[in-house]
Amino acid sequence: MSAIKITALRKSFNRVSVLKDVSIEVQKGEMVALIGSSGSGKSTLMRHLSGLTFADRSSPSSVEVLGRKVQKNGRPAKQLRATRARIGNVFQQFNLVNRLSVQTNVLIGALSRIPTYRSLLGWFTKEEKLKALQALESVGLREHALKRASYLSGGQQQRVAIARGLMQEAEVILADEPIASLDPESSRLVMETLQKINRELGITVVVTLHQVDYAQKYCRRAIALKEGEVYFDGPIEDLDTALLTDLYGTNIPEGS
Ligand code: ADP
Ligand code: MG
Repeated sequence: MSAIKITALRKSFNRVSVLKDVSIEVQKGEMVALIGSSGSGKSTLMRHLSGLTFADRSSPSSVEVLGRKVQKNGRPAKQLRATRARIGNVFQQFNLVNRLSVQTNVLIGALSRIPTYRSLLGWFTKEEKLKALQALESVGLREHALKRASYLSGGQQQRVAIARGLMQEAEVILADEPIASLDPESSRLVMETLQKINRELGITVVVTLHQVDYAQKYCRRAIALKEGEVYFDGPIEDLDTALLTDLYGTNIPEGS
C-alpha cells in the first residue's frame, strides 16, 4: 500500500512556478531521501503532504497520505485533520516548546487523540505519561525527560521531535532538513534514530537532506528535485557523479 501518493502537483507563488507537475509515490515502510539544491522545492513539497500548503487550483492534482486524501485540486480534503494526525513532522528548527519539559513536548504528540477538555487543560493520564517515557527511551533520551527542552542540544531536540511522532502513533514521519544545523556526530545520531524507527516500527520516513552523503548512507531511495521537477527517482546507488553534478554543479554538498 502506498504511504504517499502525489499526482500532478503544481504550485506557484506570485505566478512563479515552484513545483511543476510533480508525481511521486512512496510505499509504506520506505525511507526516502528528498534531495536537491536550495530553492528546488523540497520544503514546499513536504508542506503539501502535511496540508500546510495547497496546490494551485488551476490544474487538477491530488495528494494522498496513507490512502486518504490530504488535498485535491488545491483544496483541503475533508479527512485532512484525521490524516494529519497520522503524520509526524520534524523541522530544521523550532520543533519544541522551549519552556516545557522534554516529556511534555513528547506528550504534545497525543493532543490530537485525547478529549478536548483534557488537551485544553494539559491533563495526561498515567498511561500517556508512561508512553511518553517509552518514546523517549526509543530515541535514547529517557534520562532527560524532566529537563526543560531548551537545555537539550540541537540533535537531542530533534530526537525529542521524533519521540513526539512516536507518541502521536504517526505512520509517516516527514523530516525537513533535520540535520541542517547539526554537527556530524549529532547528525549521525538523528539519522540513526530515523533509521531505527523506520526499520523497527515500520514507520515511513521522508527526509529532506542538503548533504548527499547522509542520503547515501541512510536511505535506499532518493528523489531529487531540480527547479521544481522530479529530476531523479530511484535507488540511491544510481545517484552517480554525473547526476549529482547536474543537480549541484561541481560543489556537491557533503556533511561528514
Ligand atoms: P527548498 O526547500 O528546496 O530549499 P523551497 O521549497 O523552500 O525550496 O522553495 C522553493 C522556491 O519557492 C524558492 O524559490 C522559494 O523562494 C519559493 N517559496 C517558498 N515558499 C514561498 C512563499 N511562501 N512565498 C513565496 N515564495 C516561496
Ligand atoms: Mg527547504
